[in-house]
Amino acid sequence: MESIGVLIVCPMNTYLEQELEKRFNLFKFWNFPDKTQFLNTHKNSIRAVVGNATAGADAELIEALPKLEIVASFSVGLDKVDLGKCKEKGIRVTNTPDVLTEDVADLAIGLSLAVLRRLCESDRYVRSGKWKKGDYKLTTKFTGKTVGIIGLGRIGMAIAKRAEAFSCPISYYSRTEKADLKYKYYPSVVELASNCHILIVACPLTEETRHIINREVIDALGPKGVLINIGRGPHVDEPELVSALVEGRLGGAGLDVFEHEPYVPEELFGLENVVLTPHVGSGTVETRKEMADLVLGNLEAHFLNKPLITPVV
Ligand code: NAP
Repeated sequence: MESIGVLIVCPMNTYLEQELEKRFNLFKFWNFPDKTQFLNTHKNSIRAVVGNATAGADAELIEALPKLEIVASFSVGLDKVDLGKCKEKGIRVTNTPDVLTEDVADLAIGLSLAVLRRLCESDRYVRSGKWKKGDYKLTTKFTGKTVGIIGLGRIGMAIAKRAEAFSCPISYYSRTEKADLKYKYYPSVVELASNCHILIVACPLTEETRHIINREVIDALGPKGVLINIGRGPHVDEPELVSALVEGRLGGAGLDVFEHEPYVPEELFGLENVVLTPHVGSGTVETRKEMADLVLGNLEAHFLNKPLITPVV
């Protein structure tokens, strides 16, 4: 397989890069400033693209690679891959489901606790020496709060399971009501937001879910409500979220993802009811290794004519 050309589109994981280099003829896209010239030179040797949540394979890249057979994403979300174009051209697509579910769910609960209990602000309080001048103020209890989840899939279910351990009543919104679940279903995001304290976004980013968190939803969540986003940045109308937080129309937010990563609205930096993480939902050593092994396993399976491990298309 050493002669097979594989294009990795951005830096994502050292172990993955090293293992790809051992097995394939690896091209690192970021090492070639003139993309057009690079693609013209190597278009006939690249048979696989490896992308992630930041960069994948859009229509332009797919069109530029006539020998492309497979896109293996180092992510579960495939919003950076033109799935329609891949289907049309018979290009296989794989992602990394399941192995990252627990980490992302852990982070959703961690962000909820961090926002309600002001963990980051409390930490700053101690470090800055303010504690010596007086006790920190009282915060808000997490146990027992109503949790609403948008997208009750693998990650959504793992969040629900964890929140149940905190005695939180669970409700959810998705396109279809799930059978045999004791969780309450709401047929719209606004109804869900009106009836929960903590609203967690855990659905894929599609044209349907872009700005699923808009002004109406934020207003329904209200000044005591908290938004947690571990899905994708564009799920949220960010300027609306910022103004609601600045004006006190929303109680708080825990955000792992942003509309224009790595750029985060600076208006949020001074707000103690907001906790910000740099898109690290799956970012543990253990999980990133499992994700890398899945990417490698899918590529090897494809080029050895074996069934893909986690096919999407
Ligand atoms: P999944 O198992 O496919 O679950 C997605 C759920 O979303 C499904 O239950 C689906 O239910 C629901 N859904 C789909 N379209 C919807 C819509 N238009 N409106 C409302 N709900 C909708 O996916 P997963 O493995 O849980 O991953 C979910 C997402 O998390 C990924 O796509 C990714 O964007 C994000 N993620 C983020 C991080 C991070 O680092 N922050 C890491 C991993 C994943 P219905 O079909 O019934 O609608």
